[in-house]
Amino acid sequence: MKVAIVNLGQIVSGDWHAPFTAGDAIVTDGDRIALVGSAPAAAVEGADVVIDGGGMTAIPGLIDSHVHVTFGDFTPRQNTVGYLESYLHGGTTTAISASEVHVPGRPSDPAGVKALALAAQRSFASYRPGGMRVIAGSVILEPGLTAADFNELAQQGVKLAKAVFGAVNSAYDYVPLIRDAKAAGLITTCHTGGASIPGSGAITGDHLLAMRPHVSFHINGGPTAMPDRDFERVITESDIALQVCTAGNLRTTLLCAGLAERHGAFDRFIIATDTPTGSGVMPLGMLYTIAHCASLTEMPPERFICAATGNNARIYGLDSGLLAPGKAADIVLLDAPDGGTQKTALAAIKHGDIAAIGAVITAGMPRFVGRSRNTPPTTRKARVVRSAVTRDFAAAGQ
Ligand SMILES: [Zn+2]
Repeated sequence: MKVAIVNLGQIVSGDWHAPFTAGDAIVTDGDRIALVGSAPAAAVEGADVVIDGGGMTAIPGLIDSHVHVTFGDFTPRQNTVGYLESYLHGGTTTAISASEVHVPGRPSDPAGVKALALAAQRSFASYRPGGMRVIAGSVILEPGLTAADFNELAQQGVKLAKAVFGAVNSAYDYVPLIRDAKAAGLITTCHTGGASIPGSGAITGDHLLAMRPHVSFHINGGPTAMPDRDFERVITESDIALQVCTAGNLRTTLLCAGLAERHGAFDRFIIATDTPTGSGVMPLGMLYTIAHCASLTEMPPERFICAATGNNARIYGLDSGLLAPGKAADIVLLDAPDGGTQKTALAAIKHGDIAAIGAVITAGMPRFVGRSRNTPPTTRKARVVRSAVTRDFAAAGQ
């Protein structure tokens, strides 16, 4: 299927070094972006679906790099079904598993955690709740896992490994496990801050600098933050990615953003939610953290959209997160919320408002056009002006 989105007011690229792309149109072909900028008449005529963006702002689909998936579109932590589809209505088009620790009775022996990671990876390989892409299968690091285990998992398609819910005596016991997981090509992640569940200890700067995972999960606290003085050390003494999460400490999110900017480390600053957790199911979590960061710092709003898209894609090696030819056709149309004081999506975000969503496209398929069921209504109107597909894209959003 080919989709042409025309009459866009602004295009945010997803790359914070060059955050805007000139032009007013995006054309997709299959599950890829074919063109960004100005669309020749033939490209629009040749599209199966033409969407009038009504002057809205296009951004790459948001990538939430910390979602507690289990199996199916269900979270046992809050006994909620359909949450991933609901997150899509908050603009999140990719959810990356923070490990499947919430599976009831989850195993803790090496054979069990390997099987759990592989089963999760397989079960989401082609299952897209509401159009959401889910990168699942994050092996929970447990004593007894060997380099051969990590190699086997990597060969089977598992991409992620997570430290700190295992049965270790000390956090330093993770050092060789992370080293071996990295050597196998897995992307390694580590809980940061105070314990989130009984029995897990605090992880601070000393631990992170000894372990050197690729990503410090919720460096702002999950939900309890590590000492303030450790942020600068992690930023200047390592190349660990700095993931800030909605379900954490907002003050240290802002502290981390400022330090990342000051030390030239914004490439490593990534946004996620850390939900569903005790903090709940938060379909608009990504938009909240983007608005909090943009409105409470001096940095421009597009910077934080890029932290939630292109930066996450680069750290996790994904083919999405950028509006550019050849990238995954995951696109969100944003606008100022109706009834607010601001005129554009970016002005609203800078003002501290939650942007309104007018359409979400994933894998080149419009999932809804018109109104998100979770955000306020848009000021402008996005609509399908022509469609050769027998599908009601507006109804899909209700
Ligand atoms: Zn978490």
